[in-house]
Amino acid sequence: MILIYPPVAKACEPPAGIAKLSGALKHHGIKHSVLDANLEGQLFLMDSALENTRGSRDTWTARAMRNFERNLGALKDGNTYRSKDRYRRAVMDINRVLEKSVANDEITISLANYQHDNLSPLRSPDLLKAAENPELNPFYPYFKRRLSGLIEKEQPSTIGFSLTYLSQALCTFAMLGFLKRKYPEITLVCGGGLVTSWIRRPGWHNSFSGLVDHFIEGPGESALLSLAGIRAGFKMHYTPIYDSLSFRDYLSPGAVLPYSGSSGCFWNRCSFCPEKAEGNRYVPVGIQRATADIAFLVKQTRPALIHLLDNSISMALMKSLINEPPGASWYGFARIEDELTNMDFCLALKRTGCVMLKLGVESGEQAVLDRMQKGIDLQTASLALKTLKRAGIASYVYLLFGTPGETLADARRTLDFTVKHAAEIGFLNLALFNMPVGSLEAQELKTSSFYEGDLSLYTDFEHPGGWNRKSVRQFIEGEFKRHEMVSAILKKEPPLFTSNHASFFVME
Ligand code: SF4
Repeated sequence: MILIYPPVAKACEPPAGIAKLSGALKHHGIKHSVLDANLEGQLFLMDSALENTRGSRDTWTARAMRNFERNLGALKDGNTYRSKDRYRRAVMDINRVLEKSVANDEITISLANYQHDNLSPLRSPDLLKAAENPELNPFYPYFKRRLSGLIEKEQPSTIGFSLTYLSQALCTFAMLGFLKRKYPEITLVCGGGLVTSWIRRPGWHNSFSGLVDHFIEGPGESALLSLAGIRAGFKMHYTPIYDSLSFRDYLSPGAVLPYSGSSGCFWNRCSFCPEKAEGNRYVPVGIQRATADIAFLVKQTRPALIHLLDNSISMALMKSLINEPPGASWYGFARIEDELTNMDFCLALKRTGCVMLKLGVESGEQAVLDRMQKGIDLQTASLALKTLKRAGIASYVYLLFGTPGETLADARRTLDFTVKHAAEIGFLNLALFNMPVGSLEAQELKTSSFYEGDLSLYTDFEHPGGWNRKSVRQFIEGEFKRHEMVSAILKKEPPLFTSNHASFFVME
């Protein structure tokens, strides 16, 4: 069996999904190999760009090509993260090389995205077109040779794709199309976060039956094992295996170890959240097991940073890390809870290596938070931000605008809250609300499709207060972002890699 992580996603850490599946397969003695085609594919394109466009007249491209090796080295060097400007230049120049590796004007590739002007990953017919014409995909020269070589060596009966992000969909289908045409005898399997969202979307219809033999929704271990003829319970947990993924090749200053202590979310009530809309169950790994896994993986991989991938790290896991510090810096998403207002707790958390928490504050108006069933109160949020700051833990704050329960006046209160806490907020993520198709609110409000794609996970809706998307966007761009204190925080955001690299800027 071969497990593949397809392009394009941020190549700053190894893919956790296939590492987990690899752990399950190894546990049951199933021969397999894993391929991070995302990292390899991006490096391949950049190498070919250096060969093909030498002597480019465009000054920026010429500089980016000339300094490519130096910039790549800089991105992997912690010292670069002491200077925002040096970091920005390295990222933007590397991105320039990747962008210029593609000759087709319809396609734009960046270190974080893949866009095709005429093919949408939200439309099944477009994904099928990508599969029918794999040679038109810019990664074709890479995957044609790489997959053929690997198949010849491994003789797999099954190849699985881990499709997590929309930016991976068109390339995944190009690879699937290539494999189906050249190796029709191999069983093709597709799973991952995006596939799960598609399948759990109301009205899901599988248009890919001639191409993909099996779609897997949710955690894929037991489904994959059963394809290999092994019956394993859904609740069985496997320690991820990163043996065959080369940590030093990723675009980060040191190894970043991703680990999930749970899937789903223990809160699972926020009205805007896809986790809730898709009915994803909360399945924790178990505190003892998670702590032991982390300790084992840290010993094995010696990471510079642990990325806890949980939708929300439970207090129980944090307390366990306090008792048994993992021995490396770490960051992840947390819910705002009373413990984060306690200085002793935050200092203890800091001592475990916690360098940054991502916090969904969402709104600066309590009534809006209550309407979205966020389950936090602003006084606690305010105190938590202050306490974390004093304890030396950075906050990456997430705000959401345009929910059905929000008005322009409410959004202005979010601006006030942000300005008032500007000294405590390390980084900011601003999002325009998208209504998940399967949410309760979508059933209660007048909705219409605005992405005109059968695979779109979101729907347009008539805002009960008349605050439409255009006005919300105008507020964010024209008012919120323009406030000098907000703009100063936004400038700190690492371009393209955003929260994935933010911790490196706050680590001592
Ligand atoms: S806490 Fe986060 S993951 Fe959990 S339901 Fe709310 S938004 Fe979703």
